[in-house]
Amino acid sequence: MDFLRPETLAEALELKASRPDAVPIAGGTDVMVELNFDHRRPGALLDLTRVPELRQWSDGLRIGAAVPYARIIDELGTALPGLAMAARTVGSPQIRNRGTVGGNLGAASPAGDTHPVLLASDAVIEVASTRGPRMIPATEFYLGVKRNALEPDELIVAVHLAPAAGPQQFAKVGTRNAMVIAVCSFAISLFPGENRVGAAVGSAAPTPRRAHEAEAFLAAELDFATPKPLLDSVKREFGELVSRAASPIDDVRGSAAYREHALAVMARRTLGWAWQELLSRKNRGGEQSCA
Ligand SMILES: Cc1cc2nc3c(=O)[nH]c(=O)nc-3n(C[C@H](O)[C@H](O)[C@H](O)COP(=O)(O)OP(=O)(O)OC[C@H]3O[C@@H](n4cnc5c(N)ncnc54)[C@H](O)[C@@H]3O)c2cc1C
Repeated sequence: MDFLRPETLAEALELKASRPDAVPIAGGTDVMVELNFDHRRPGALLDLTRVPELRQWSDGLRIGAAVPYARIIDELGTALPGLAMAARTVGSPQIRNRGTVGGNLGAASPAGDTHPVLLASDAVIEVASTRGPRMIPATEFYLGVKRNALEPDELIVAVHLAPAAGPQQFAKVGTRNAMVIAVCSFAISLFPGENRVGAAVGSAAPTPRRAHEAEAFLAAELDFATPKPLLDSVKREFGELVSRAASPIDDVRGSAAYREHALAVMARRTLGWAWQELLSRKNRGGEQSCA
C-alpha cells in the first residue's frame, strides 16, 4: 500500500487527481478501524495531516476539514454552540483529539454526530479538485448510506457555517452516555432575526435529513419579536412532526418505533431549552447573537 504525504493542499489535490483510488486519511478514527478489520485494502492512503490549509479555521466561519473535534470544542464553542455540543458527544477524548468534521463528512454515516447540526445550521461544504472548488449545501451532500457527493478526484476542504444567530441545541440517544454511536440524534438552530428554525435528524433514515414540516410549523408558531413561554401543545406537535420526518429501521442499536419516540422527545426537550435560552437573553436585555 502506498502512503502519500502531501505538504500543501495543491499537492494533495494533484495526488488525488493522479490516484483517485487513494483513500484520504485525516484523524484515521474511521479509516484505521476499516483497515484493521480488513474491510478495505486501498492501493494508497493519502495522509492529510500535514496539509496546513485543512487544519485552520477563520472568521466567517470557514473550518478546515482536518480541524479536530477537541479544537472545535475549545476554540469555537461560543460561535458554534450546536457543533461544539455534537463534538463533545463524539467518542472519547482520544477520538476527539484525532477525529475531524471532514472525516465525519467523508464517512457519511447516517449516525455521524455532526450531520444534524450542519443541516440545521445551513452549513455549506467546500470541496476541491485540480478542476477547481465546489460549494455544496449540506442538504445536497448526503446521498445515501455512507455515500456523499464527492467525486473521486475531490477532497473536502472546509465547512462554512455562520456564527450562531440564536440558541442552538443538539441531543443524542445512545445505549450509554459516552463512547457510543447514536441510536438517533437531533439538532435545532433558532434564527431569531429571520423568524426561522433549522431542525434535522440523524441516525433515523438512510441519510441525515432536515425536518422541513417541523421547521415550517415552528416558524409560524414562534413569536421571536416578543417571545413568551411555549405552549406544551406547540412542543408536542413539533416533536411529532420531527419524528414523522424520519424513516428509521430496526437494527442492533434500536427499533424504528423507539427511534421515532426518542426523536419526538429530543425535539420537544431541545426546543424547550433553546426557547428558554432565548427568553433569558431577552429578559437580560441581551443581544440575540451568540457571536
Ligand atoms: C472508538 C470510536 C468512537 C467513535 N465515536 C463516534 C461518535 O460518537 N460519533 C461519531 O459521529 N463518530 C464516531 N466515531 C467515528 C469517527 O471518529 C468520526 O466519524 C470522525 O469524525 C472521523 O474523523 P477522522 O478525521 O478520524 O476520519 P478518517 O478516519 O481519517 O476518515 C473518515 C472518512 O472520511 C474520508 N476523509 C477524511 N478526510 C477527508 C477529506 N478532507 N476529504 C475527503 N475525504 C476525507 C476518509 O477517506 C474516510 O473515508 C468513532 C470512532 C471510534 C473508533
